[in-house]
Amino acid sequence: MKRKILSNRTITRLSLYYQYLSRITDKKFISSKDLAGLLGINDAKIRKDLASAGQFGIRGKGYEISQLHSSLEKVLGINRTWNVVIIGCGNLGSALLKYQGFSKHKFNIVAGFDIDKTKVNKEINGIKIYHFDLFGKFVKSNKIDIAVVTVPQEAASEVIDKVVSYGIKGILNFTPLQVYKKDCIILKTDITIEFIRLACLLANKK
Ligand code: NAD
Repeated sequence: MKRKILSNRTITRLSLYYQYLSRITDKKFISSKDLAGLLGINDAKIRKDLASAGQFGIRGKGYEISQLHSSLEKVLGINRTWNVVIIGCGNLGSALLKYQGFSKHKFNIVAGFDIDKTKVNKEINGIKIYHFDLFGKFVKSNKIDIAVVTVPQEAASEVIDKVVSYGIKGILNFTPLQVYKKDCIILKTDITIEFIRLACLLANKK
């Protein structure tokens, strides 16, 4: 049976619940009211979101945390590990390679790629950086699910075409290039947009 498609906003809220629950170690149950108070989200909305993940609280007790956590993992597609490569290991790419928190949430960064000889064959955080010429060969012998693209804008189109041509179905595109490919989900990630969103909320705050 096909799963219901969740809206981006619902996915964002479910991810927030999941991340928050991952950090709780000292209790067994949590109520939607507690979650609402901690996350600043209306508790009726939380109950509706959690129902979409097949979870209904017990009156007077709330939700069993471990059960809720594993349901959220399933709904969010993180009840398995995703193998990730980073293409472009400059400022942003190397910062992502250095961060150790992704693997905790099932995102396993397996390699970096670059064309700069001073970066190729080096390791960051134990992860090797290969020349991008070896990308095809690497993808054929390692199952790669997601490519993170952190190259300069001028190189983005060519890099994304190559990633898609090797059958990778998910791209996190940090470059300013807006790109659409029929057989690949490409999410554009832009911190500037988050700044603008925040500025707009601040400017309109009563
Ligand atoms: P950078 O110049 O420090 O790093 C880019 C790296 O890509 C370099 O190491 C370079 O050698 C490599 N590269 C160039 N062409 C390549 C190719 N064809 N194949 C593989 N590697 C290649 O740049 P940066 O500051 O890390 O920024 C990277 C990208 O991220 C830029 O497009 C920038 O606009 C974008 N960016 C986005 C955000 C955001 O919020 N979306 C924030 C910062 C940077």
